[in-house]
Amino acid sequence: MVSASYSWPIFLGKPWFKLLHRKFLGEPTQFKNIQNLPIVHHYGYVCDLPPGHRFPMKKFHKVYDFLCSSGIVTKHSQVIMPNKIEKSVASLVHTDDYLDKFFSGSTSTEEQRVTGFNWTSHLVDRVRYESGGTLLTTVLAMDRGLACSTAGGTHHAFPERGTGYCLLNDLAIAAQFLITTGKARRVLIVDLDVHQGDGTAFIFKNLETVFTFSMHCGRNFPFRKQESDLDVELREGIGDKEYMSSLTDYLPDVLQSFNPDIVIYDAGVDTHAEDNLGKLKMTDEGLFKRDLFVLTNVINRGIPCATVIGGGYCQDIDKLGKRHTIIHHAALKVWKQKGL
Ligand SMILES: [Zn+2]
Repeated sequence: MVSASYSWPIFLGKPWFKLLHRKFLGEPTQFKNIQNLPIVHHYGYVCDLPPGHRFPMKKFHKVYDFLCSSGIVTKHSQVIMPNKIEKSVASLVHTDDYLDKFFSGSTSTEEQRVTGFNWTSHLVDRVRYESGGTLLTTVLAMDRGLACSTAGGTHHAFPERGTGYCLLNDLAIAAQFLITTGKARRVLIVDLDVHQGDGTAFIFKNLETVFTFSMHCGRNFPFRKQESDLDVELREGIGDKEYMSSLTDYLPDVLQSFNPDIVIYDAGVDTHAEDNLGKLKMTDEGLFKRDLFVLTNVINRGIPCATVIGGGYCQDIDKLGKRHTIIHHAALKVWKQKGL
């Protein structure tokens, strides 16, 4: 594995930003040396949870294991380890008050309850690695055209609170970082997790440079929806065919009209029929077709794409881990076809 570093000019000349930039991503060097599809992964994506906890934390290890055993990861140099997100970077979208409380463990019992996790310092580390991973994936994608994390998609986190297994909004932090630094002028977030990306929608509701597209099951968490730039609500119980029909109706038009500099794609697999928290009936084959459709539509337009795995709550951890690698298989196919 190689540590995080890359080459692109610093758009903001402010000393604080240069320091932040250097501290977080290292000196500009050798992203060009990465061969094969870039995979962003860190063992710190996983932390211990109490026995019987409903969140399938171990899935992140399984994802990486399947990537290696199925031939997606063939070289150590292909895997890049992120740093933990800095508080100053997370504060691009989160309030200082919330970050101070979350980082130090002083959130209230009720604030912790709605996140689904009791606070531990290891949980903070995990969340910071995951957000750092998504940010690094977007920076890599800008440089190489396509890059995939093995975690990410915590779209229910709001500026001042976490909810629904989401503590920091990694998608929003990465998008805002690209905008703030001038690396991208327009960012499109395509959120195909079965749940609405409510936190992301709220964060960017008044910002025209980030377009939020969420296609989700209408009768599912969160029950109080926010307004994305485009929300497509799906009926309970629909399968691959109807799902793809909706996606085909909307995604190409959004890409055409918004013309983003990068797409951040949340490829949640909780749309699968076996998922405990989804209410749709997609199959593994349908997920592959969906991911391939998204990636080819984006990459064919010459737009870079960064992917995160999103939600997935099947009880069979082996099936779940493997299912989360469908996006990486689709990405590798596009990577090879396009000669990236
Ligand atoms: Zn979800």
